[in-house]
Amino acid sequence: MSETYRVAPGSSVDLSRIDTRDGALFAGDKAAGKLALPALNERLEDLQEKLYAEGKHRLLIVLQAMDAGGKDGTIRHVFDGVNPAGVQVAAFKAPTPKELAHDFLWRVHAQTPARGMITIFNRSHYEDVLVVRVKGLVPEERWRKRYGHINDFERLLTDEGTTILKFFLHISKSEQAERFQARLDEPDKRWKFRKGDLDDRALWDEFQAAYTEMLERTSTAWAPWIVVPADRKWYRNIVISRHIIDTLEGLGIQVPEPEEDLSDVVIE
Ligand code: AMP
Ligand code: MG
Repeated sequence: MSETYRVAPGSSVDLSRIDTRDGALFAGDKAAGKLALPALNERLEDLQEKLYAEGKHRLLIVLQAMDAGGKDGTIRHVFDGVNPAGVQVAAFKAPTPKELAHDFLWRVHAQTPARGMITIFNRSHYEDVLVVRVKGLVPEERWRKRYGHINDFERLLTDEGTTILKFFLHISKSEQAERFQARLDEPDKRWKFRKGDLDDRALWDEFQAAYTEMLERTSTAWAPWIVVPADRKWYRNIVISRHIIDTLEGLGIQVPEPEEDLSDVVIE
């Protein structure tokens, strides 16, 4: 699993040739795919508890996607049943004036996971080479250097004991249209829709180009990108869940022995 949909470091990426509706792991069988998720949720719940108990490793999960790409749904479904005490979600919106007074990684570093914890980034420092690039919010000579700064930053984190997994939720432009329409049609979902989302949609090709260069330049051995076919939500959930589980299983987590011999303890 660990190689499935992973962007090899230094490889070139053509997003238009990566099928957003791919279902290869389940031969497109939605019923089987949906049935598989609860068991994966239980495994993740168990692994998270061990991660916390050992208190040694940290896991950082980065989610990036176009609007309506499924970042919120991923967090809800993939982490269903996992103890919220061991998981933090950090959402990165347009920077505040205070954040803008610092370098772009300042607000990000402060949210990275502590030992034993899982942190999920809902958007991330990658916005600083995505929306910032597409909307021309800083000059090119500045954002262009950020690929290198990001790789170095992620290297620092991994050298210090953080494991990083980065998921790009790859949806088609037509799927985005359907999801926007659903948000407009369902009164309970309307709050999610901003007219400004349409401005970003009009820049779809520019965003795809920015995502492409991001994937090519920042998928590293120490912090790989995984391009998740995300038009089908059930499939997206399974791909992401399996990657996280495989990664946690690969850490060789050992639940610590109690500090003293408890074999003679009797609770009256
Ligand atoms: P949402 O995720 O839908 O709540 O929207 C958050 C918004 O914040 C998106 O439109 C992002 O493009 C924007 N955003 C996040 N990070 C940055 C950044 N570093 N610079 C500018 N805009 C950002
Ligand atoms: Mg939005």
